[in-house]
Amino acid sequence: NPAAPLLQLRDARIAYGQIQAVKGIDLELFSGELVSLIGANGAGKTTTLNAIAGTLQLSGGDLSYAGSAIAGMPAHKRLRAGIALVPEGRGIFTRLTVEENLRMGAYTRSDKAEIEADLQRVYEMLPRVKERLPQVAGTLSGGEQQMVAIGRALLSRPKLLLLDEPSMGLAPLIVEKIFEVIHTVMKQGVTVLLVEQNANLALGFSNRAYVMESGKITLSGSGQDLLHDPKVRSAYLGEA
Ligand code: ATP
Repeated sequence: NPAAPLLQLRDARIAYGQIQAVKGIDLELFSGELVSLIGANGAGKTTTLNAIAGTLQLSGGDLSYAGSAIAGMPAHKRLRAGIALVPEGRGIFTRLTVEENLRMGAYTRSDKAEIEADLQRVYEMLPRVKERLPQVAGTLSGGEQQMVAIGRALLSRPKLLLLDEPSMGLAPLIVEKIFEVIHTVMKQGVTVLLVEQNANLALGFSNRAYVMESGKITLSGSGQDLLHDPKVRSAYLGEA
């Protein structure tokens, strides 16, 4: 069913012990979309991404992916089913080389020829990364590490790519490059859910977006509509 969402959260709740971090949210992603999730620090954005990736469990509500309920599925199975997460802080293996990091992304796969072909595609998309394949990843700049983290995620052949604050701590010019890469990934048919503090950038760039506040989704709409929404402008774009 082409009209069915690729991913759907319904009344999703996520808790850390007694602390309710996400308090019943509804969120849908359709195939091929680039959707962003914006909101202040502590709103529950990272928590939501981790629950989709399976590194956190829902404490209530439903999660479906490609038509199946997956709330009880472990993270490695979700990865194999096409859900890849680029975590906050990138999560690269700093002592491994760039090439080893990229290859780690394919660890759930056994189709060797296809993995090599995907590596070549990632090299084409990320020429800076290709130049640094033998370099120890911990010695790369922050922007290069972010590229490696995205490249590694792509090596799992995701249908859904979850990106947690890819612009964090990076200079504007590098952020622009990272967003170009994300756009290319989306153009290649990967559905993207992007968590961003940089609301201006994220909204200008997304098909749709959700605004999260204190564990709830308070607004949603097209990127352009939210970009021009007075509530969003005053709360997240630094306007009075
Ligand atoms: P940030 O941009 O800071 O990551 P966020 O919107 O992603 O913000 P979350 O990291 O999802 O927010 O945090 C949501 C809430 O859950 C916050 O109140 C936070 O303090 C709490 N929280 C997050 N991680 C934990 C944890 N491991 N244990 C207890 N509470 C946590």
